[in-house]
Amino acid sequence: MLLFSIIFTSNTTIALTNDLANNKMATAICKGCKVCCNGVAGAGVLVATPSKKISGDMDLILVMDQSGTYNDFGGTARDRHGVDKEPHNVASSEINEESRKTIQVSGAVLTASHFVDLVGRGHIYRCFIVPIQNVSCSAFYHSKNHIVIKGHQFNETTRMTRFPLGALVSKFKKTNLVPDHITSDSGESCKINGRIQGILRLLLPRL
Ligand SMILES: [Zn+2]
Repeated sequence: MLLFSIIFTSNTTIALTNDLANNKMATAICKGCKVCCNGVAGAGVLVATPSKKISGDMDLILVMDQSGTYNDFGGTARDRHGVDKEPHNVASSEINEESRKTIQVSGAVLTASHFVDLVGRGHIYRCFIVPIQNVSCSAFYHSKNHIVIKGHQFNETTRMTRFPLGALVSKFKKTNLVPDHITSDSGESCKINGRIQGILRLLLPRL
């Protein structure tokens, strides 16, 4: 799997970093508004982990929230207390919360990670692409660390699921399209959020 070599090799020649040069909407990027902090409106983490079922393949780890769709771990750059955060710190706290503290990635690790910048409505959402060796979806269901904050329960994640990457890549190579449903490692067809669809549109052509 090419992604395996890309994201597990430190000196890769394939740059997954800043995508803005290739983004048609780059000219319309917001110069700053009430939702943008430190150049982004939001940030998150897309986790890739070795498959348990298919040797040499990778799984993407996505979470379902109250919207009923699967997404990367992520959120807005300005928190509920009105505090601006750097993209790597936003992403670090979002993965901690949304994985129910079962996956922890420090801001320092994220700073050194590949990322793609997704531009939607002129705002940048930065998604760090991070390989993690040991991810347990069952730990998510056993975790007692449900983050429920008054008035913010709508963001609570309810499921954490593996999605085989090899199948996604080969389907993309045939169709050049990112579908709105993808297949989990247990064969379930799952609806994915528009945000992760956009991230996959940036990522899959590189794999
Ligand atoms: Zn803005």
